[in-house]
Amino acid sequence: MSDDCIFCQIIAGKAQCHPVHETRYTRTFLDAFPSTPGHCLIVTKAHFTDIFDSTPEEIAMVGHVSTLIAHTLREELQCDGVGIYQLNGAAAGQTVFHYHMHVIPRMVGQELHIHSRARGAPAELEAMAARLSKRAYSLRTDD
Ligand code: 5GP
Ligand code: ZN
Repeated sequence: MSDDCIFCQIIAGKAQCHPVHETRYTRTFLDAFPSTPGHCLIVTKAHFTDIFDSTPEEIAMVGHVSTLIAHTLREELQCDGVGIYQLNGAAAGQTVFHYHMHVIPRMVGQELHIHSRARGAPAELEAMAARLSKRAYSLRTDD
């Protein structure tokens, strides 16, 4: 736990999020500034700054969950594609320094952005998280 880390605060229940899924090692919640509706972040429960500070085991867990979340997005939102991005270091565009992976629904013809400046509307995030969470827990973890 790093006191000044927003993702640690979310994991500790001290800051709010729109949760989608949880495992022993990970939390998945909606990005507060979604690039597209349904933009998810898979976050390690333990605080690691980035890939260089993490362990292969933790990264493997995030990778494992990414398949479940990709299936969840495609099945629930019928998106044409799913972009998976993981940024390490400010030079790579990382802005929150707690290891995480973006899983972003994509539609044909959309511009490709990882980050958005527009905060998602709370009611829309809440409804989206409820849909995705229900779908994620309905799938097998090896889907
Ligand atoms: P990075 O640039 O580090 O790969 O991505 C960090 C992501 O975290 C960004 O897409 C940003 O929108 C998102 N983010 C920043 N602050 C918060 C927050 O307080 N809650 C949630 N859910 N997402 C956040
Ligand atoms: Zn943290």
